[in-house]
Parts: sequence; structure tokens; C-alpha cells
Amino acid sequence: GKDNMDDCIILENYIAGMFVPCKRLLDSHDPSTGKVWAKIPDSGKLEIDAAVAAAKRAFPGWSALSAHQRAQHLLRVADLLESRLDEFAEAESRDQGKPLWLAKTMDIPRAVLNLRHFAHTIPHQLNTSSVQPEPGVFNYTIRESVGVAGLVSPWNLPLYLLTFKLAPAIMCGNTVVAKPSEMTSVTAHMLCKLLNETEFPVGVVNMVFGVGLSAGAALVSHPNVPLVSFTGSTITGRHIASAAATHFKKVSLEMGGKNAALVFSDCDLDACLNTLKRSAFINQGQVCLCTSRIFVQRGIYDEFLEKFVAIARDIKVGPPTDPNVFLGALNSQPHLDKVRKYVQYAIDDGGSVLCGEGVDNLILPREYQNGYYMRPTVITDVGDETRCMQEEIFGPVVCVSVFESEGEAVDRANNTKYGLCASVWTSNVGVAHRVAHKLKVGTVWTNCWLVRDLDMPFGGVKESGVGREGTQESLQFFTEPKTICTKIV
Ligand code: NAD
Repeated sequence: GKDNMDDCIILENYIAGMFVPCKRLLDSHDPSTGKVWAKIPDSGKLEIDAAVAAAKRAFPGWSALSAHQRAQHLLRVADLLESRLDEFAEAESRDQGKPLWLAKTMDIPRAVLNLRHFAHTIPHQLNTSSVQPEPGVFNYTIRESVGVAGLVSPWNLPLYLLTFKLAPAIMCGNTVVAKPSEMTSVTAHMLCKLLNETEFPVGVVNMVFGVGLSAGAALVSHPNVPLVSFTGSTITGRHIASAAATHFKKVSLEMGGKNAALVFSDCDLDACLNTLKRSAFINQGQVCLCTSRIFVQRGIYDEFLEKFVAIARDIKVGPPTDPNVFLGALNSQPHLDKVRKYVQYAIDDGGSVLCGEGVDNLILPREYQNGYYMRPTVITDVGDETRCMQEEIFGPVVCVSVFESEGEAVDRANNTKYGLCASVWTSNVGVAHRVAHKLKVGTVWTNCWLVRDLDMPFGGVKESGVGREGTQESLQFFTEPKTICTKIV
């Protein structure tokens, strides 16, 4: 384009500890202004082959280190990342569109925690043995590193989700080729620079940038990549699962959601509203765990709706660097167009748009007028079978609906092909647990949302995922157990 390229960042692939320029480049836009701000490699099979070969060469040496030695390398990276928190947060916000304060308080601190958490926990979990009381023999098990892991990650929480895979993968002794989202590659590239600064062993982590259909597809179908860990949309997950099936790879898939909040009449309404404001709209509604359907019990429905719409209307949307905005920009123009289309589908299906898109004006400073902004949008009167109630929108749009009984709320919450998470709001402990048991999802939060303990299994059921991540689950995924039986008489 016609953008001024003077301060445009140009990324290079990171292969065997070296930065390798790519002849073909793609534009990456700053969502807050719509201008190109980075150029990223448009890699394909050639670059993936080189990265996989580098990772394969590094595997024998890296997997032979003790877990404690690997942890020391990782902890140095964590410390350096923490010392550069502001710089990374600025880049993440610029690349992704999220408020700077959010990148500073959530994304980058969580990336640091991911590195530290797995560095600290995996060494204590890796070596387990079982001795079977068979006469004359004894058994023990070892957990072995598998090989080169292919990591494919999305644009909504770029460094946060990449490090959630990277840390356990390498702590378990594997080497890695990562393919971050083409929409948000900058902080992954910055991480490669930190790896070199800490003199991280060469070839253990390789980063190849590019789009899903070329770089991504070449990685997940590569015969020398026996492990594939993916986070992204369900449609991409389906492609990856079938590509991986050819080689019987181990696959972990974290995919989309259509998460419900079940709000019972006896809940602490102010606390509930406060959290649902975040769960519906944080990160512009672009967290896989965001609430997109709110079922409210009849007794408090009118009060809930009135208060919730007032809260949504009050949310400030604008430039990510403004400390007072709660929402920055959505990630891309095509994504904004897609999210807006769902508001139109709701109207076509007889729904009412109570605030936000098409209802309230959005006034932006001049230089941000081509950014991808949208106001928090609350919709009612859409049937359970409509697109807005069935499909993942992944933006600041939430549908609110009334229910009468506990059984009805559970059935309707379960009525989607997804099963990632849900939240339940009640002061009755029996209702909270009973409903939590009946919801077909991977995580239920009762009277809270997005409180995460990395030791806990995380993932989805149905079309939201295959497998789990977390201390034990990631360890199991990124290793293979082997039983060794020895005759001792
Ligand atoms: P996406 O599926 O479009 O892309 C994710 C990654 O896959 C990108 O790096 C992309 O380049 C790559 N890719 C695309 N096609 C590929 C192919 N054929 N082969 C290999 N790689 C390919 O998803 P997105 O739009 O970046 O992210 C948003 C989605 O991610 C939402 O659906 C959201 O719910 C989901 N998500 C899920 C979780 C979770 O933990 N369950 C977390 C965050 C986001």
C-alpha cells in the first residue's frame, strides 16, 4: 500500500538460532489504525522443512539434558521477558488491537507465568515409577520426550497461548517448530530475540511465520513432526486432525466455543453483572472462553437486562493506548465484517439489538477512524436455533434469553455443538454443583469466570476440543510412557 514504511517492522524466520529472511512478505495491519505496521514472512514447505530439520538435529542433545537443566534455560527466558514486559505489551497491543493495560496486566504476565510454571512443575512430575509385585520381575515406567513438536497458535492471545504450548513442550525434552498466527506474529519474533540473548541451545525452538494454508499445513502434515498442538477455530482443527491422522500423530486441539452463563434469581446480581461485563466483552469479546449466551431466570430477567445494557453502553471503546478504554480494536477488517454480519443475522431472525452496533454512535479520534472498532452489543429475542445462538461470533456481541427452570437452563445451555466452558450464578450451593455436573463442557466456573490454575486440566468437549492442557495433561501429551520389565531372579 501507500502507507509510510519507514517504521514498518520486518520479521524473519528463526531457524537453528538464526534469523533467516524470507523473499515473500505479507502485510500485517495495526488494528487500531488500519495501517500496515509489520511485514511477515510468507513461508511455505521450504522454510518448514528447514525448521523441522533444525529441530530434529537439536533433539538428541536437548532431550538428553535433565529436566532441571532445561528448566534453568527456560527460567532465564522468563526473567528476561519479565524485565521487558512493557516493550512486549506495547507490541502485543499494537499487533492485536487489545488495550495496552490488558496486555500489561494479562497477556505478558501470563506468558511469563507459563514459562515459570512448567519450568517449576515438570521436573517434579516427570520421573514416576511403578513396581509391580510379580514374582521374579520388576516393572518401571519412564516418560520419554517424543521428538519435534509442531505448535500452531491463534491471534486472540498471541504470546499467552504460544507459551502455554512452548513451555511444556520443551520442558518435556521435545524440540519445537512453532507457527504463530499470521495476524499477530510480532511478539513471537521478539521472543526469538530473547532466546538468542539468553544463549538458549540452538534449534530447540524454531519459529516459522506465514499463513495457515501454506506454512501451517506444511508443519502439521510433516512426517518428522510426531506431535501437533493446535489452538484456533474448529474448522481449522478439523483440517489439522485429518492431516495428522495420516501419520498417526499425537494431536491436541483447543478450538471454538459458544459459552453460556446461567444466571439464577438468587445470585448476587451486582457481582454477576460485574463479571459478565468482562466475560462478554474483554479483549473485544475475542477470548475462546468469552460468554456469548446469557440465560437469565424469569424473576430477575427485567432487572438484569436493564442493568446489563446500561453497563454495556457505558463501556468506553477506543485507541488501545488510552488507559480509560475497556475495548480496543477487533483484530482485522475481515473479522470485524464477520462479527457485524452476525448482528444483521440476529435482526433477520427477529432479534432486538438493545445497544451497540447500529444503535449507538462510536466517536473516534481522527487518526483511528480506519481502525476496526465496534461497541459492545447486546441482543435479545433470538431463538435457540438461530445462527447467533449456535455459531461462534468471537466479538463483543452477547445474546440474552429468559428461562424458567433449572432443567430448561441446562438443556438450552447444552444445545450447541460446542462444549468449552460455562459459568453458573447462584447463591445455592446445591444448584451450583448440580448444574455444574450436568453442563457438557470442559470447565465450569460458579460465581466467577476465567480464574485459572495451570495445574487444572483445561480444554473442551464436543467440537470445542480434543485433549487437555495443564501440568499433568500437557506432560502426558508431550511425552510417551514406556514400561520396562526386568527379570531379577
Ligand atoms: P484459525 O483457526 O483461523 O487459526 C489458528 C492458527 O491455525 C493460525 O496460526 C493459522 O495460521 C493456522 N491455520 C489455519 N489453517 C491451517 C491449516 N489448514 N493447517 C495448519 N494451520 C492452519 O483461528 P484464529 O482465527 O486465529 O483464532 C480464533 C479461534 O481460536 C476461535 O475459534 C477461538 O475460539 C479459538 N481459540 C480457542 C482457544 C481454546 O483454548 N480452546 C483459545 C483461543 C482461541
